[in-house]
Amino acid sequence: MAVGAVRRTRFAPSPTGPLHLGHAFAALTAARLADPGQFLLRIEDIDRSRCRPEWEAAIYEDLRWLGLSWPQPVMRQSDRLPAYRAALDRLAGMGLLYPCRCRRADIAAALSAPQEGVIGPDGPVYPGTCRGRSMEDAGPEDAIRLDVRRAFDHLGLDRIGFHDEAVLPGQRHDLTAEDFIAGVGDVVLARRGMGTSYHLSVVVDDAAQGITLVTRGKDLFDSTYIHALLQALLGLPLPLYHHHRLIRDDAGKRLAKRDDARAIRLYRAEGASPADIAAAVGLQEAGDSPASLPHGYLGQEEDP
Ligand code: GLU
Repeated sequence: MAVGAVRRTRFAPSPTGPLHLGHAFAALTAARLADPGQFLLRIEDIDRSRCRPEWEAAIYEDLRWLGLSWPQPVMRQSDRLPAYRAALDRLAGMGLLYPCRCRRADIAAALSAPQEGVIGPDGPVYPGTCRGRSMEDAGPEDAIRLDVRRAFDHLGLDRIGFHDEAVLPGQRHDLTAEDFIAGVGDVVLARRGMGTSYHLSVVVDDAAQGITLVTRGKDLFDSTYIHALLQALLGLPLPLYHHHRLIRDDAGKRLAKRDDARAIRLYRAEGASPADIAAAVGLQEAGDSPASLPHGYLGQEEDP
């Protein structure tokens, strides 16, 4: 992000359950690091089987109660399938995609040799069983994968990276092509029956929304290399990143996506105030301006 550029952030929850303290921290962090009026909301609802309209309504209610506001209309990924299709078509036109019919069990069986079982950001690194298949043979039962080696060759790059202002500010985090191929592998860009994936949607949408600072949990740090590769392939601007600490429960375990016991709505029902929630996640008073936070403060705390 160029010096002086607008800091536009977003909070991008999936409406699959109540927002909990981890979401409150993520949303408040994104809002506090944004310039005034530059905090956006995006509903990540591509997985129609898990998303519910009542959870989407609850997201708006909880976030407003926390004191947040955002420009309208809110982007919803379920409205964006043509944009994901166009990005996929572009990558297919470059000869970088292939259809994959492997199920989880097939992949596990192919990886039965223990030394082959490298775990990447999306699980076991795909062994490449379907890599020889052509997109002309793609059927509705297939997922679509990116041939990562070809992608690096296409770009003429031997590494990919991004800048994070919270972890080593000013320094680029790089992953070599060889480490990407071995440790991440051929990522799924369109899941079976869905037409897209988390990685593809998030990259296309961050660009469409003009996000200049992507704030997200440290658990997604390795996924950001995938996003940097997709941004390079699709010719999209590279945002700055801020991978923040994760909120953990009393036992030190990271709050799960569905940790209903720590739902914001439960704390509300028990009489907690928005300031109590901010304090519970280690943030200063809700009224503090982003400028009052020391640079990088949020991400610098060590995980317990
Ligand atoms: N919907 C994603 C999540 O809740 C968004 C994370 C991101 O890409 O920043 O984990």
